[in-house]
Parts: sequence; structure tokens; C-alpha cells
Amino acid sequence: MNKESANFETLDPEDWERSKKLMHQMVDDAFDYVANVRERKIWQQMPEEILAGFETSVPKKPSRAEDVYKDLSKQVLPYNMGTIHPRFWPWYMGAGTISGVMGDFWASIMNPNLGGANHAPHKVEEQVINWLKEIMGFPKTASGLLVSGGSMANFTGLAIARNFKSGYDIRKEGLRPDNAGKMVVYASTEIHSCNQKALELLGMGAKSLHKIPVKKDYTIDLEALQIQIKNDKDAGLKPICIIGTSGTVNTGAIDPLNELADICESENLWFHVDGAIGAVALLADNVREQLAGIERADSVALDLHKWLHMPFEAAGVLVKNQEVHKNTFSLIPEYLEKNTRGIASGENWFSEYGLQLSRRFRALKIWMSLKEHGTEKFGRMIARNVEQAKCLGRLVDDSDDLELVAPIGLDIVCFRYNPRGMTMEQLNAINKEIKLQLEEKAIALPGYTTLNGLYCIRVAIANHRCTNEDFDELIAKVLEFGVAIASATRVEQP
Ligand SMILES: *Cc1c(COP(=O)(O)O)cnc(C)c1O
Repeated sequence: MNKESANFETLDPEDWERSKKLMHQMVDDAFDYVANVRERKIWQQMPEEILAGFETSVPKKPSRAEDVYKDLSKQVLPYNMGTIHPRFWPWYMGAGTISGVMGDFWASIMNPNLGGANHAPHKVEEQVINWLKEIMGFPKTASGLLVSGGSMANFTGLAIARNFKSGYDIRKEGLRPDNAGKMVVYASTEIHSCNQKALELLGMGAKSLHKIPVKKDYTIDLEALQIQIKNDKDAGLKPICIIGTSGTVNTGAIDPLNELADICESENLWFHVDGAIGAVALLADNVREQLAGIERADSVALDLHKWLHMPFEAAGVLVKNQEVHKNTFSLIPEYLEKNTRGIASGENWFSEYGLQLSRRFRALKIWMSLKEHGTEKFGRMIARNVEQAKCLGRLVDDSDDLELVAPIGLDIVCFRYNPRGMTMEQLNAINKEIKLQLEEKAIALPGYTTLNGLYCIRVAIANHRCTNEDFDELIAKVLEFGVAIASATRVEQP
């Protein structure tokens, strides 16, 4: 069949002009969607008829693209997660950017595969990784990879740590009886769960993660760590790695990174930093000092879809020793062999530095965003969130009925309503209810955590759109709902 034949099918639009018009409409709608985000509900429960729309079976016949867009507009757009809204502060997530959108758009249009080969998109990712090295104070000789998120970044770092520190060809032999169950990794009790998952998948088991208690400020207790390492060695175990966290998920605490680096040096351990939250805060004048020592890590995981606001998914892992990194992942069958000329040329392919072969052009949105805004502006956005956290802390301190439940770390504020004279169980229930009402009345989306048994409202302010007035409003509503819920609770009491 030749192309001229009337029924030669492709997946391209049948009518390019009509398709273009639809896309222009989408661009207009999308920009309004972001620009007017504050006017829409931050979150709303999906009604039954909307949910029913997700139960229909797979479409067999074509639909007009215009009709598909109608479905998107009706079923999906109004019921978004809320991350792009200025009052989204629950889990630790970024707020997205238009420059990131432009990058993602062209990434899909060009649709290159970042597994390897000789083309400009490969150069873009190389440059982005070099920029990340500059930001993190890593040497030019370090290696790196863009990955989907902090979980994959930590997994990658820990896989390299395991392979290098096992001391034998673990890729060939797998876990040996004399090593299985013996290799130990240390981190504080505040460590993010993805690190445990990584160790489980690396065959080391959850029990290989020895969690060290934290101090009052939720940073790792160095003395307890050193005692644990000594005890483990005496018991015949093989310590291989310490994970420091720069910005814990509960309270934003930053472990003492220089001290951890010292211990790693003297004990000959791999130093990995889970910097999913805080690493990029090296760009912020009011945080940089607290992160001293991060540049001494053997590997560091950093999220770009958190405090740099790249559209999901965007994260990076940097590794000091490129050879060790490559030795963990490089495997080149004939169909991936490189030439010295042509499209299959080039030294280092990204598929040799991670688990994925086919990889999205996620570097583009980062490349375009960093060019458009520059690191100084990103730094100012981070610094402002840190100031906003302090400001929220002052509002809490100024109210007799509110209290901070943990020291404010970076941009994370944990507080609760406490009108005195109530039990811990009552206060936990009241604060849970306050948080739910804030959500259901679409006032704001804070998060929560439980610290030493105390349920608290946790506000993680990784958001470049929120203002101080948003926090005034948050506090006003917490107090308003708190008074009502507490008095109802008191009436229920005999
Ligand atoms: C969010 C987070 C992770 C996981 O990152 P994802 O991007 O969600 O995969 C890991 N560690 C910490 C400290 C985090 O806050």
C-alpha cells in the first residue's frame, strides 16, 4: 500500500489543521488553569457519576480528539490533586512550573530515547547532570543520572554502595552465604521508607537497616551510631554504608553531614545522602551552611520535583566515583554495542548508569527551567519558604491555643491545636478532625504526622505560589474549627 492511497493509516492526525486548533485551545485553557488556580477548589471529592466514567471498558473504535478533550475537561481537570495550588502543603511535593511544561511538551514531541546514542538530547542530560554537580559541589569527574524520583535515586546510590562495599563480584555471584545477612546500613529512625525498600530489593533484607535513635531535634544521635557500629563489628557483621538525610520527611531535620562523613572515613563506609528534600537548598542563602558536608558524600539523591518544582517525575543521583557507578550497571550486549561513528557512537550511555534502558527526555524540562529562571531565583524561592515556615512558627507561638510539636526544620512546621485541659487522645482526635475539615472545606491541604504519640498538623511549604496571607488564613481556620470541635468534644463528656 502506498502513502497516496486514500486509506493509508497512521496514528497522525487525519486533519492537521483541526488538530492544531484543538491543541491551541488546550494551551489557552492550560495557561488559564494554572494562572487561575487560586480561584478553584484546591481539592474536591469526585461525585459518583464522575467515578462511574472510569469504569467503562477499553475503547475499540476511534473518537474525535475534541470529544476526548471534553472527557478530560469534565472527568479529570476539576478533580486534580492540588499540587499546583498555593495552599498545597501535605506531602513534600513541588508546585510545577510553566517552563517545565514547555520542556515536557517538546520532550514528547521529539520523543528521543535517553538510553544512549549520539544526539543533542543526550548532550542536554549530560549538561543537566554537570549543572547538578556544580550545584552540589561535586567534582567534574563525578557521574550522575536523572531518574524518576528520590526513591529511584536512593535505590541507585544504595545499589552502588552494596556492590562496591561487598568486596567481591556480587553481580556475578549474588549474595554469598558468608555475606547474606551480614552487610549493615545505618540511618536514623527518621529515614524515608524508600531506603528500606531499596535494601529489601537489593537482597539485604529490611533487617540490614540498623535504625539509630534521634536527638530532640530529630537528627541522628552520633554517639548511639558509633556504639552500634562497634557492637555490630564485634558481632561479626559487616557495616557497609551510612545514609544521612538532609531534610527528613517528618520535620525537615538535617543530619550532621560532616560528622557522618568523618565516621564513614574512619570506618571505611560508603556515605550516601538522601537529599530528596534538602539537597537543592544549597541554592538558598539561609540554608547552605546547614548542609555543609553534603559534598563529601559518595553518592547523593536529590529530588527536582520537590523543591525545584519540576513537573513530576524529576530527580537525580550523583556519584563521586564514576567507575564504581558504571561497574554496577553497565552491561552491553551486541544490540547495544557502540560504534566510533554515526548515531550509535559516544562514550557513556545512560543505560550503563542505571536500571532503565529506555528513558524519557526528562532532562529537557530541567534544562529549560534552569536556563529561564537561573539558580539564584530558585534559591530565592527556597529561602522564602524557609522564612514562611518561621513566620508560621511565630503565628503558632503567638496563639495560646496552638503549639509547635517539633523544632521547625527547613520548611516543615509541625503544630497542633491544644486548648489545655484535654487528654492526648482527645487532642489527637480534634486535630485529625481539624485537618479533615480544612481539606473538605477546600481551605488548604496541610499534612499530618505523629511525633511521640502526638498527632500534629504538618505543613510542608515547598510551594513557590504561597504568600504569608495564606498562613494567616490557615491559622484563623485552625483556631475557628478547633474551638467548635473542642466545645463539641467537651459537651460529649459527662
Ligand atoms: C520524597 C522523599 C523520598 C522519595 O522521593 P520520591 O521522589 O517520592 O520517590 C525519599 N526521601 C525523602 C527524605 C523524601 O522526602
